[in-house]
Amino acid sequence: MRRRRCGASGSRAITVSSPSASLPALHRPPRHPQAWAWLFALSQIGGLVIGWRFGWHWGLPLILGAQALSFWATLWPQSRLLSPVLTRLPAQGRAVWLTIDDGPSDDTPALLDLLDRHEARACFFVVGERAAARPELVREIVRRGHEIGNHSHSHPEKWFWALPPRAMRVQIAEAQRVLSALAGRPPRWFRAVVGMANPFVAAALKPLGLTRVAWSARGFDAREADPARVVARIARGLRPGAIVLLHEGAPHGRSVAVVAAVLQRLTQDGYRCVLPQDAAASTAASDPARIATTGATAAP
Ligand SMILES: [Zn+2]
Repeated sequence: MRRRRCGASGSRAITVSSPSASLPALHRPPRHPQAWAWLFALSQIGGLVIGWRFGWHWGLPLILGAQALSFWATLWPQSRLLSPVLTRLPAQGRAVWLTIDDGPSDDTPALLDLLDRHEARACFFVVGERAAARPELVREIVRRGHEIGNHSHSHPEKWFWALPPRAMRVQIAEAQRVLSALAGRPPRWFRAVVGMANPFVAAALKPLGLTRVAWSARGFDAREADPARVVARIARGLRPGAIVLLHEGAPHGRSVAVVAAVLQRLTQDGYRCVLPQDAAASTAASDPARIATTGATAAP
C-alpha cells in the first residue's frame, strides 16, 4: 500500500492500493474499430439510392449529414462515436487524474520533483521520437512511480486528425514500440494529438490494447503562459474523477510554473492526484456496481 496526495502538507492523505482487477472496467480498447466505416458506407450508399429514387432533397442531406457527423466526431475530443474514450474516472471523493502531454522535455526533471513534493502521481503522455532521444527521462518518470502514455511518434499536430490508415498505424505503433522498451511495459493509454481522433485511430489502438483518453479539465496551457489564468480555467472543470490536461515543454517556457500553480490549487481544494488503477481500486472496494457504469464506453 502507498499513500499519495496532491498537497505537501495539511491536505488529507489517501490510501491507494496496487492495480486491481477493476482496472479493465476503465481500460477498454476499441472492440469494433470498423463499425463506423460500415455505417458510414451504408449512409452514403443509402443516400445515393434514396436520392435516385425519391429525389436529392432527401438523399443529399443524408450523405452530407453523415460526412458532417464523422468530421465533428473527429474534431471533438470527447466524442465516443468513432472509438471509446475515457473522459473521467469513477473516483470516490476528491480525486483527479493529472495528465501531462508532449514530453519528455527540459521541464521533466523539475516536474518530477514538483510531483514528489506534492506526493502526486501523474500520467505522462510522451512522444515516441522525443522519448527515444531522451530515454533516461522516460526511465526516471517510471522509477518515480508515474505512468507513461502513448502520444504518437512524431506529434504531427497540424495533420494528425487527417492521417490515412497506414500513417495513423505507424504513428501509434512506432511510439508504442519505443515506449514499451523504455518503460519496461507497454503503455495502456493513448492521447490523440490535439485530442482529435479520426475514424482510423480505433483500428490502430485495438491490436496494441490501447484505450483513448481525453480530458474534462483544461487550461490551454500549451499556449497560455499565465499560471493564474490556467488555474482559473481548469478550476471550472474540477470535480471528483476529473481528468486534468496539462503540458510540458511549452514554447512560452513556463510549464513548470503552471503545473506548480495547478498543484497548489488542487491542494487548496483538497483534491488527491491518483492514477486510474488507484481510482478503480478504491471505487471497486467501496462500490463494485458503480465502476461498471462509468469510464470508457463500449461504443465501436
Ligand atoms: Zn500534444
